[in-house]
Amino acid sequence: MKKPSLLLDVDEVICFSMYLEYINEFLQESYSIDDFTEYYLEESVIPKEKMEEFNKFIAEKNLYEKPTILPGAIESIKKLSEYYEIFICSDCINPFAKENSGIMYKNKYDFLYRTFSQDIIPCKNYIFTGTKDIFVADVQVDDLVRNFGSNVPKKILFPSYHNKEVPEEFLKEKGIIRAGNDWREGWNILEKKLIDNFDEKQLKLKKTVFK
Ligand SMILES: [Mg+2]
Repeated sequence: MKKPSLLLDVDEVICFSMYLEYINEFLQESYSIDDFTEYYLEESVIPKEKMEEFNKFIAEKNLYEKPTILPGAIESIKKLSEYYEIFICSDCINPFAKENSGIMYKNKYDFLYRTFSQDIIPCKNYIFTGTKDIFVADVQVDDLVRNFGSNVPKKILFPSYHNKEVPEEFLKEKGIIRAGNDWREGWNILEKKLIDNFDEKQLKLKKTVFK
């Protein structure tokens, strides 16, 4: 029997890229991720007149050289791979600098390749796209609500600085559940939801998790 498929996001779920570190370096500031509530960090703090200069500055950086791995992510993904076939589903385009985004595909690929062995997430399972809502899978984990489509029955919102205010009613309507409210605890809760509720005979998640 085939394992159920799991679409797994990278940014703000597996890791925080070095984007904020470079924003701090550029502005000579010391922001932390919890200072933000909007998804696009640069929109909140980079003055419009400095945006072009910042995009040039960031274009030369490898944002995945030393990203911050979220607590428990690697260990949980290893465990999850025993139950699910994991597909990376991740956007690589910086909407503020589309012309310089090609390098993000390489840098993210290299990061994933060196972080996860081929028996955990084979590189043939990397999907790099901003159009995530077209995919069909059994489970999807992402921190951005707009990335969930109607082709995935089990959708889990990973907690992040920018999604705390998403109304519960809205999530309920879309059939999305939260993996807690704090990114530090996200993997702990996600692992429990995806493994403790796994029906080993049927090879699928029990429906009760989504009630
Ligand atoms: Mg993300």
